[in-house]
Amino acid sequence: MLVVMNKNARPEEIDAVVRAIEERGMTARPIAGGDRVSIGVLYNKGSVDPSPFLGMAGVMDLIPVTRPYKLVSREFKPEDTIIRVGDVAIGNGHLTIMAGPCAIESEVQALTIAEHVKKAGAQMFRGGAFKPRTSPYSFQGLGEAGLKILAKVREETGMPVVTEVMDEENFDLVQEYADVIQIGTRNMQNFSLLRRAGQARKPVLLKRGMSAVIDEWLMAAEYILEGGNTEVILCERGVRTFVKHSRNTLDLSAVPVVRRESHLPIIVDPSHAAGRRDQVIPLSRASVAADAHGLMVEVHHEPDKAMSDGAQSLYPEQFESLCRQVRAIFDISRHEA
Ligand code: PEP
Ligand code: MN
Repeated sequence: MLVVMNKNARPEEIDAVVRAIEERGMTARPIAGGDRVSIGVLYNKGSVDPSPFLGMAGVMDLIPVTRPYKLVSREFKPEDTIIRVGDVAIGNGHLTIMAGPCAIESEVQALTIAEHVKKAGAQMFRGGAFKPRTSPYSFQGLGEAGLKILAKVREETGMPVVTEVMDEENFDLVQEYADVIQIGTRNMQNFSLLRRAGQARKPVLLKRGMSAVIDEWLMAAEYILEGGNTEVILCERGVRTFVKHSRNTLDLSAVPVVRRESHLPIIVDPSHAAGRRDQVIPLSRASVAADAHGLMVEVHHEPDKAMSDGAQSLYPEQFESLCRQVRAIFDISRHEA
């Protein structure tokens, strides 16, 4: 249940509702909205009896929550969440493009690609220092040395950096360098990692598990919000199906569904969905037309020599064209909205 307070509810009225909820053995979570505070009721066993709260001073409305997820749901917070990272905003009204190589391979490689993607219009740089690889014999990323290169990219270009954390062991280290912490598809239901991310001081980019339905994905995000970190960006990256013409199948319908169900921003990663460069631009156009709040795209200046995911990495000129095309689509959708 959600207790919606009057616009001019006084702090002591809000406190009284919080106490009334907690006296009944449940947890109260005040959520600041545009012009009023709502108080979410968590850890209720079964449905909540609204009667004790109905007559309380400052209470405007009591809304039953019908979804299994709470803090991530629109029922709890109707307004879109906008996440700010330096000068970059992610969320409704913005189209945020993150780009970079799959893996950081060297300082020269990272800086070269960063300059290209920045010039083309990317606002954030994305590159992996810790890489989840199917084979233990494949390049696993540069680790801390890669994080240091990311810091250098930020310093030289001014772009905030996104990078993946694979385990709790390296969480503090990654958090120290990253502006946005990525949790990858393979870790979407790593609940202890999600709990750790709930305590993080940085926004988290949570990719959809390759076999996860949307409820499971939103529940994974719920772990992070429940832990106290309200800054989560969802990222659709394709789900595993039987087809062979692409690495995964981009689930475009996830975009409108997530936008309806949740206030959190949702971006699309067309690169891991496609697995091949010729599909990346059309899938990007479609994602923006479907109202994604942004894209995360793999780009490499020498994809043939890339240490991972070269086949799906765009050449810098292709990325420049992608940015031009999706910005035009975004402008049309914004005028039509
Ligand atoms: C990545 O973004 O580099 C990555 C490994 O993606 P995913 O977790 O979606 O496979
Ligand atoms: Mn990759």
